[in-house]
Amino acid sequence: MCVGMGSFADPLEAQGLAHFLEHMLFMGSSEFPDENEYDSFLSKHGGESNAFTETEYTCYHFEVKREYLKGALDRFSQFFVSPLVKAEAMDREILAVDSEFNQVLQNDTCRLSQLQSHTCSQGHPLNRFTWGNKKSLVDAMGSGVNLREEILQMYMNNYHGGAMKLVIIGGEPLDILEGWTMELFSNVKSGPLLDMTPKTDMPFWKPGKLYKLDAVRDVHILYLSWTLPCLHKEYMKKPEDYLSHLLGHEGKGSLLYFLKAKGWVSTLSAGVGSGGSERSSYAYIFEMSIHLTDSGLKNVFEVIGVVYQYIDMLKQSEPQEWIFKELQDIGYMEFRFAEEQPPDDYAVDLAENMLFYSEKHVVCGEYLYEAWDPELVKHALCFFNPDNMRVDVLSRSFDKQSQAIQREPWFGSQYIEEDIPSSLIESWRNPVQIDANLHLPRKNEFIPGDFTLRNANSPRSSSEDNPRCIVDEQFIKLWYKMDMTFNVPRANTYFLISIKDGCSSLKNSVLTELFANLLKDELNEVLYQAYVAKLETAISVVGSSLEIKLYGYNDKLPILLSNILSTFQSFSPKTDRFEVIKEDLERAYKNTNMKPMSHSTYLRLQVLREIFWDVDEKLEVLMNLTFTDLVKSLPMILSQLHIEGLCHGNLSEVEAINISKIFRNTLSAQTLPEEARHGDRVICIPNGTNFIRSVRVKNDLEENSVVEVYFPIEQDTGREATRLRAITDLFSSIIEEPYFDQLRTKEQLGYTVDSSPRMTYRMLGYCFRVMSSKYSPVYLQSRIDNFINGLSTLLDGLDNETFEHHRSGLIADKLEKEPSLSYQTGDYWSQIVDKRYMFDMSKLEAEELRTMQKADVIAWYNTYIRSSAPKRRRLAIHVYGCNSDIAELAKLQEQSWTVIDDVKSLKGSSQFYSSLC
Ligand SMILES: [Zn+2]
Repeated sequence: MCVGMGSFADPLEAQGLAHFLEHMLFMGSSEFPDENEYDSFLSKHGGESNAFTETEYTCYHFEVKREYLKGALDRFSQFFVSPLVKAEAMDREILAVDSEFNQVLQNDTCRLSQLQSHTCSQGHPLNRFTWGNKKSLVDAMGSGVNLREEILQMYMNNYHGGAMKLVIIGGEPLDILEGWTMELFSNVKSGPLLDMTPKTDMPFWKPGKLYKLDAVRDVHILYLSWTLPCLHKEYMKKPEDYLSHLLGHEGKGSLLYFLKAKGWVSTLSAGVGSGGSERSSYAYIFEMSIHLTDSGLKNVFEVIGVVYQYIDMLKQSEPQEWIFKELQDIGYMEFRFAEEQPPDDYAVDLAENMLFYSEKHVVCGEYLYEAWDPELVKHALCFFNPDNMRVDVLSRSFDKQSQAIQREPWFGSQYIEEDIPSSLIESWRNPVQIDANLHLPRKNEFIPGDFTLRNANSPRSSSEDNPRCIVDEQFIKLWYKMDMTFNVPRANTYFLISIKDGCSSLKNSVLTELFANLLKDELNEVLYQAYVAKLETAISVVGSSLEIKLYGYNDKLPILLSNILSTFQSFSPKTDRFEVIKEDLERAYKNTNMKPMSHSTYLRLQVLREIFWDVDEKLEVLMNLTFTDLVKSLPMILSQLHIEGLCHGNLSEVEAINISKIFRNTLSAQTLPEEARHGDRVICIPNGTNFIRSVRVKNDLEENSVVEVYFPIEQDTGREATRLRAITDLFSSIIEEPYFDQLRTKEQLGYTVDSSPRMTYRMLGYCFRVMSSKYSPVYLQSRIDNFINGLSTLLDGLDNETFEHHRSGLIADKLEKEPSLSYQTGDYWSQIVDKRYMFDMSKLEAEELRTMQKADVIAWYNTYIRSSAPKRRRLAIHVYGCNSDIAELAKLQEQSWTVIDDVKSLKGSSQFYSSLC
């Protein structure tokens, strides 16, 4: 349900009110007064819900098992008829909004976006603080605003049928779904239709300004923003997409290609974002974000100068119809062969589309490039001039001593506002010359032309088959399955290329990563062209292997693969690119673990995995690496390889075999013998042991703390462990909601509260997590312990009906067909990466669940989780936020915890499970 009102409607004296209303709407209704009713109904029936507040609309959505759609709709609809907005829930929900804000407090993108709001013209609706936090809401009350009255007022004025767009995706026939809608939503009060026409063109920002914003992460990013008129009604022509295609292009002649050659820029993107502040009825904001190198930061004005040369080149050449036709072909093809999304996401997309597109285009609107209108493109280009541009530079190289420093009031981020010299502006307005290296792109050779389905003549009965191994040679092993389900001309081909000693030492692991990044850089132009034509590539380092994934339309896939592999084979890095890519990787290492949640995951894996190179040590090694080191390492990387891959989708068996031949014919490496391939081993924590690792946050200003309590269960031996995996999932399904309800809703410990199974290199485990900006890890640990101790009572008291719901919900989950080819490939691939090869794993687990009783779950809990359970062992990770005192750790040492001071020596004296993958 999209309701056409969002944070632009916030009153100045109560900022964040629309967001707060979104939270309060769920707090019970006249029909269902219990505030937990909706969530617990959904959770019991395999569902979940969420909501978000945009600038001009607010969206509420849920999903649930098919049979319970009506029950869930019944509860959902009442929020739009008679919400209670319970006064007693308000203080608590203010805390929830505050925790949510604390999550983004150290996020550079959010800080920038708030700076842009803060410096927006006074009186403009963007000149707001849309998140809301405790201060904005409590201050409002302090200054006499009756928040509850304001919320009700906001609700009364805006929540009516004329402003609502509802999408229901269900398994029942349409008449039945329509009948339910009429029955349940007929009491929504009526109101005037939403007005989506463009509003006044009041300027957003003062022209000629440069804003320097102090960054949290180690980055230099230049943002250029141009304000275009609202283009809602031009969605059949999409002039902004034509321009973003060219300004964001990465092939020869493009801005990025040119700026990379100068060594100034590493990545660049351009276009009108999909968010509400970028696409509102007030304006479309076209933004370029340009990641600069150190040298690019020094030459930032020259970079902008090149941007204006390119813009001038566009203004001087007529808009090109053939370029629009390419976009049109791609759009048409994407619509024709669109892959299904998870229904929850799809419902949200459609409800948003209903706000912007006419009725007949709700489904296809975003793919449409119906009419070529060169005049409209020219008109849009007129707005790309320095008098209509805002410049932001986000960097840590920020003059901390400057007298001109100001603070954005909500995030407290430091910034400096400067005037751009008028001589510069003049030179951008009329570039003296256009560098001959800037020109329009070539025709895209990767746009597919062959969409025939390979399965047309195959017997339908094979649709239930699993991938088969069709090539099993020493050098390459290939799994294959022709798609019989989705019938789209797409294929996903994934490969794991094992490299000799790829991560056997700290230095090798850094060299492997450098190599992968340089290879990607070298391939960028080709990969980008293919990506535009919806054939994508992902290259990453996984352990000691290079993982290469090609996915998208299958027509040109073999050409792209040949291209990648011949570059791989003949790769000879260049010094200037080495320096840039090294600087990039240094930055990536420095920025690792800046978020406390990923930091805690990192720390857990660092203890669990036998081979795990510390990122700070990697950084040290990297700083001292030379170009010669890399060149010397290439023979190591290329000498011995082993490939295991999967071809899934619209490929015949012969085509898949040919793909394996591309590997054999292009790569000259020897086979990496099996015993030389890396296998990951996981630490064996003795029963009864409680390890704790406590660390401070990496970012000194980060207020959030994280506690992650991990219980190893057993090694996942494959088929024999089916029942154990299924019980673990069932336990998770039963306790997930009570855990959330207790720690987040009732105790308000923090915004992120979750618990779920973990699979770490075939080690099955279970994890409880909380992230909090208000409480210290020691307290959070005690609340998690308290919850876990209470589970005996909770499980004993679980009535049969509820248990049945969880069990059948989970069975349905396991048997649910994947929505698209990509999801299905992902399932198969994880079986190959984990070397489990149980392609029917979910089905087998569903069968086990049929015979499962409540007693099985209790027995599992009593074996692995309960305090004093015989096989209980714990690994707690505590990440201390800047306001928590790590000395508190001493309190835990008195208890049963063993503190890990030195991970290396712990591993030196530990046993490890034998490697399964
Ligand atoms: Zn929220």
